[in-house]
Amino acid sequence: MAKVIAIDGPSGAGKSSVSRIVAQKLGFLHVDSGALYRIVTWQALENGIDTKSPEAVAQFCETVDIECRPENGRIAYYVGSVQPGENIRKPEINAHASHVASVKEVRDKVTALLRGMVKYGGLVVEGRDITTAVFPDASARFYLTASAEARAMRRQKEEVEKGIANQTAEEVKKSLLARDSIDSSRKYAPLKKADGAIEIDSSNLTLDEVVQIVYNSSSEALGLRGFFMGRNILLGITGSIAAYKAVELLRLFVKNGDNVKVVMTKAAAEFVQPLTFSTLSRNPVSIDEFAPVKQWNVEHVDLATWADFVVVAPATANTIAKMSCGIADNLLLSVLL
Ligand code: C5P
Repeated sequence: MAKVIAIDGPSGAGKSSVSRIVAQKLGFLHVDSGALYRIVTWQALENGIDTKSPEAVAQFCETVDIECRPENGRIAYYVGSVQPGENIRKPEINAHASHVASVKEVRDKVTALLRGMVKYGGLVVEGRDITTAVFPDASARFYLTASAEARAMRRQKEEVEKGIANQTAEEVKKSLLARDSIDSSRKYAPLKKADGAIEIDSSNLTLDEVVQIVYNSSSEALGLRGFFMGRNILLGITGSIAAYKAVELLRLFVKNGDNVKVVMTKAAAEFVQPLTFSTLSRNPVSIDEFAPVKQWNVEHVDLATWADFVVVAPATANTIAKMSCGIADNLLLSVLL
């Protein structure tokens, strides 16, 4: 079965940024399905088609020839030999796209194009009906949303940065809500949260936080999670050989992109820090210094509880084993020297 991660949600919820980064982390292709509806809209406007006439749009859409091919980690679109670029991001396209996307013939055409892309490999597909209609059997499905205010602010900032519009946040919000209303109330494949999709409200989350949630659930659903994924590891070692072996051990089980937090002794940090940042995990690794393990006492009980795994050299392991502190429930990994 094709590997597809499906992400739906209203305009401005952050789907594009999240999908692009998650696709990169998974080594999948990013697919922006909204761009396909925008292309049909752009072409319709260029050809003087009345976008509010479903019959005219249905007839016209048969004539639009869109080529899709993988390029730089995403599926790129061409109309003839032209890439639509910023032509499809202008505010006037926004205003017409929802009408064009309500037409069944347009949806059938775009759905067929999207389903055909599985031949290129794993996909992260974002849109409005991906989890409900296009790929209801996707490996992982998400509904990404945010308050209207948060979405409008992000969109406005984006448009100003790209220099493609100069609308106030209030104007952007009005346009977003108008599109949401058409997208959610249309007859064919309306925007809604699919049963079983994971809902994420990104109003108060950073982009990194949303990416982490989507990436973690996706990699778990795809069976890509490393053994230490999401775990806290305490590296209580001293000396360069022990440090090297500890990192080798972890690297066997930590997969690229896994969110693994490593805390280590001051002595271990001297040897491991550069290695950890470059090879152990692509995500930020929090390194809090604390006293060497042999001086471990009651003050460090929190840290002991925090750790899911403790990696130590055999001599230290014996010391710790004799101590009656909170690591009894942690798995103690001993690095053989
Ligand atoms: O995501 P984006 O804002 O670029 O989408 C433009 C328009 O395309 C949306 O407002 C919506 O009407 C339509 N669309 C859709 N189904 C999708 C993706 C986008 O109807 N899967």
